[in-house]
Amino acid sequence: MNLIREAVDILLPFRCDVCGGLADADNDLTELDRIYRSIYGDSREFHICSRCLGSLIPQPPDRRWLLCLSDPVDGDPYADMGLYVPFAYGGVMEQMIHRIKFNGRRGIARLLGILMGSLIRSEGICADLAIPVPLSAARMGERGYNQAGEISYAAGAVSGIPFAGDVLVRVRETNRQARIRSVAERALNVSGAFSLNGTWDVSGQVILLTDDVATSGHTLREAAGVLLDNGARQVLCMAVASNRHANNAEPF
Ligand SMILES: [Zn+2]
Repeated sequence: MNLIREAVDILLPFRCDVCGGLADADNDLTELDRIYRSIYGDSREFHICSRCLGSLIPQPPDRRWLLCLSDPVDGDPYADMGLYVPFAYGGVMEQMIHRIKFNGRRGIARLLGILMGSLIRSEGICADLAIPVPLSAARMGERGYNQAGEISYAAGAVSGIPFAGDVLVRVRETNRQARIRSVAERALNVSGAFSLNGTWDVSGQVILLTDDVATSGHTLREAAGVLLDNGARQVLCMAVASNRHANNAEPF
């Protein structure tokens, strides 16, 4: 069996980094390669089959905006903050996020950033600065990159928004939000987790703040609050995917 597999690999050596299937229709991806090279100056370091790429279908335009917080608390000054999140979490998107977080596939984060940049450019979304939600030092050490930073950088490059990776800093470690069920505990987990890097002045700026996935929205809300408290004129929150598309059909 292994011999057959090896023989196939010699003839068709590229396997999709998302589904593991043969990336047999890579020819369809020339436009993606062109954009990737224009940003990174090199060809993409991953393979994706056209089936996986083709299954990434964004939500209809009127369903891409949600409220940042799925369950806002009464009196929260940032409770009505908009969140641009074009994809539902599940299927190939879920596999991609998993590969980015646990299998070191940084190139897939870059691909998602390119897709996000194309979407926000086509929708006329503008900002002065594109920044990511920062990763903790421990997770940065484990993973070697901040996936939100990769997405934000590529989205900024495609849409012409300048990127800065160090505007926000994580001042304390937090537990993984995905492992916390209660909304109140999620809010507590990220409360006070971020602060502004003192070398940056964001006053009067419109900031595009990016995370990979938004579930309750508390992480983005907490980070956006720091920017607004430091004088940012507006914060546009953005995430690639949210599982709230499944149960929240209300457009923002
Ligand atoms: Zn695939």
